[in-house]
Amino acid sequence: MNDRLYYQDAYIQSFTSQVTKRGTEEDGTPYAVLAETAFYPTGGGQPCDHGVLGDIRVMDVEEVDGEVRHRLESPLPEDWTKVTGQIDWERRFDHMQQHAGQHILSAAFLEVAQAETVAFHLGKERVTIDVVLEELNEDLWAKVEQSANQVVLENHPIIARFVEEAELATLPLKKQPTVTQNIRVVMIPDFDYNPCGGTHPARTGEVGMIKILGWERHRGNIRLEFICGWRAMRDYTRKQATVRELARQLITSEAELVSQAERIIAEREALKQSLAEKEKLLLEVEIREQLANAVTIGNARLIQLSTADRTIQELQQLAQLMTSEAPDAVCLLATSGEKMQLVFARGQAVDVAVNQLLKETLPLIQGKGGGNPAMAQGGGQPVIAVEEVLAHARKLVETALQQKTN
Ligand SMILES: [Zn+2]
Repeated sequence: MNDRLYYQDAYIQSFTSQVTKRGTEEDGTPYAVLAETAFYPTGGGQPCDHGVLGDIRVMDVEEVDGEVRHRLESPLPEDWTKVTGQIDWERRFDHMQQHAGQHILSAAFLEVAQAETVAFHLGKERVTIDVVLEELNEDLWAKVEQSANQVVLENHPIIARFVEEAELATLPLKKQPTVTQNIRVVMIPDFDYNPCGGTHPARTGEVGMIKILGWERHRGNIRLEFICGWRAMRDYTRKQATVRELARQLITSEAELVSQAERIIAEREALKQSLAEKEKLLLEVEIREQLANAVTIGNARLIQLSTADRTIQELQQLAQLMTSEAPDAVCLLATSGEKMQLVFARGQAVDVAVNQLLKETLPLIQGKGGGNPAMAQGGGQPVIAVEEVLAHARKLVETALQQKTN
């Protein structure tokens, strides 16, 4: 472990080392092994460091059979026996903040709710822990957050070092180490003792704010998402901008935002209802008008209507209302656009089968459809004018009604 500079000092950002090995992974990626390195390899829930060796980008770092492989964008030149490494400090410090934040948050869950952490994931966007807990209510959420941030603000030292077995037995570890040699313990004295191989800042204050964002049930436990430090700061900046913009658009203050939103939603519901009532009234007026202008054929009244801006559902509704309002009505309705659609209907007092009328009309527009003697609908191609189609249907109605009277 003497080759791991990040264990001696987690703040080493650049270093110079002998190149001890060059190789190529199975997928063709070149890699280099150094006599010592500050690059942290993926492990213990913490993603690896990025950075450069010389001017060659380090894309990925992994420990394979005890050696740290720096996977590179291109191979190290053959004549480089020594190389200077520079790690991407912004990325690393972010990992240190999230990782140490996780130790503190998990310890707070133990302290406040005796709830153990069983999994940790540190992603590019999301950081999560799985906690053995039935439910996380608002009250517990607040208490845990309070306790964790208290530890941050008290600025305790975070000590990470390798310990011998004899000392290990004296430490109040929260969980047992998964390795049997080179056991490294991360300690926040009097608060948390954890076997851990990751990188951490020197004091809890550097973790910055610890903020729980939300939670969900996951395999019988609670999986909760949280962020620390600069991530929390960026998140706050974004949320503040969102709140400010919403308040501007809704013409209110931040404090009134929720009640203003509730008011607007209630207003919208009332408007929707009022609009629906007005539309119904309008439809009733239209029906009365149509019936007044209807052509009388025998004992029936014929309503013929073609429109471009109505759906077939609207035509069906119109036909339904008209025939129930006027049992002597026969409706021939059409809407024409890319497709031509027809709705034929008749009231109870008219002895005409509109499904039969439709069947004899649809061939004009190469259409398909069906229905019952009182109401039928179908659609086809607008190969001839909609007026011609309706005129054809009207003739059929006239013939059918004359046959009845004769
Ligand atoms: Zn750790």
